[in-house]
Amino acid sequence: MNAHDSERLSGMLGSLGYTPVDDRDLADLILFNTCSIREKADSKLIAHLGDAKRLKREDPTKVVGVGGCWAQSLKNELFESFPWVDVAFGPGQIHRLAEFLKSDSITAQGFFDFEALSSELPAARERPYQAWLQISQGCNCVCSYCIVPSTRGREVSRDPHSIIGEAEALTADGVREVTLLGQNVNSYGRDLPASRRIGFSEILRRLDALPGLDRLRYTSPHPKDMRADVLQAHIDLPSLCEHIHLPLQAGSSRILKSMRRTYDRERYLDRVEAIRESVPDCSITTDIIVGFPGESERDFEETLEVVDRVGFDAAFAFPFSPRRGTHAATLPRQISREVKSERMGRLVELVNERAAARAERFLGRDLEDLVEGPSRTDPTRLRGRTRHNRAVNFDGLAAPGELTEVAITDTTSHSLDGVEKLLVRAG
Ligand code: SAH
Ligand code: SF4
Repeated sequence: MNAHDSERLSGMLGSLGYTPVDDRDLADLILFNTCSIREKADSKLIAHLGDAKRLKREDPTKVVGVGGCWAQSLKNELFESFPWVDVAFGPGQIHRLAEFLKSDSITAQGFFDFEALSSELPAARERPYQAWLQISQGCNCVCSYCIVPSTRGREVSRDPHSIIGEAEALTADGVREVTLLGQNVNSYGRDLPASRRIGFSEILRRLDALPGLDRLRYTSPHPKDMRADVLQAHIDLPSLCEHIHLPLQAGSSRILKSMRRTYDRERYLDRVEAIRESVPDCSITTDIIVGFPGESERDFEETLEVVDRVGFDAAFAFPFSPRRGTHAATLPRQISREVKSERMGRLVELVNERAAARAERFLGRDLEDLVEGPSRTDPTRLRGRTRHNRAVNFDGLAAPGELTEVAITDTTSHSLDGVEKLLVRAG
């Protein structure tokens, strides 16, 4: 979501006539779009803000801006701690940056209300053929570790016509893969007025019907709302990819309860079962938090058991990071850094082992691949992504943005290796 907010900030600045420069020293405007989900992002930002202070001292006409969740979590306190910041705004107030830049205000200004959706802004996309499409903003869950509800507000679903309209404009502009974005995408629509209310699976159906949209993805669904209609959409809709990112967070029901996730281990495993029954080849990926307060060795082993049983295609593991204003930050029995890091090591090892085993099912198959550009490890080869969201390095001739077929010749826990089918035939 933060990356997509950055695309919208770039799009908006572009329309105001700003262009990016490679060197921060040359910039008229230095803008940080911040994330606050974990501590690591915060500490990186402090160093960057120090650098901006130096540049502002050398050239006071430079404008320094801070947007995003970190700004929202501090609000006006931010100006007390970092007085060289000229403008600060929360993730719901991106459009206010344009107003600030067009005004000749010389006093610092902060914009932190939650108001209308700012998803209507044009985005400068990283790749012309792939796009994020935000369908909702904010979150109504109360996960005890999470700062999002306080930085992005209550859930607001975007009007279905506006979503379809944006998708039509994107496909007309050459986009073939769209990823729907929301904190909890599958609760989409519940807050819409009855006359306009449609659910998440209906949005999927309407988007699948658009000509030119080859691939449809979404992130993140919540396990509590992973229902039969969404699985049926996976069976019915040709564009909907065989990949579901289903955040687990913990494999111990006791810890899940303390996290206020509203599902337990059995319900999660039951959802995985349902996905496997409907779409047997579906990739399932997840997020896991390690070292939540009170997590015993036994609780952690229960997480390992779930990872082993499910066999995720990939998993992001995060050490628990206490966030200001969250309930979990105040809980007793915080876990030491050493224990977190030791558990992270064991978890990542098991995740990789299971992911490598899962990837073997692709060996010898021909998989549709969306070409993204040259391979990062060997620029004479190409890199793309399968419908299962696996990166593929391959020998081939296709251009970025093309869909091609790749014969898979090797697999690892993170990527696949192959040869474009055209070359297989020619050779
Ligand atoms: N709405 C999404 C989560 C967005 S945050 C969902 O519920 O899945 C992305 C991930 O960051 C979360 O899934 C969680 O694993 C991780 N995360 C959030 N807060 C965290 C914290 N305080 N410490 C460590 N990881 C956290
Ligand atoms: Fe945070 Fe939970 Fe909402 Fe995800 S569902 S954004 S983890 S509160």
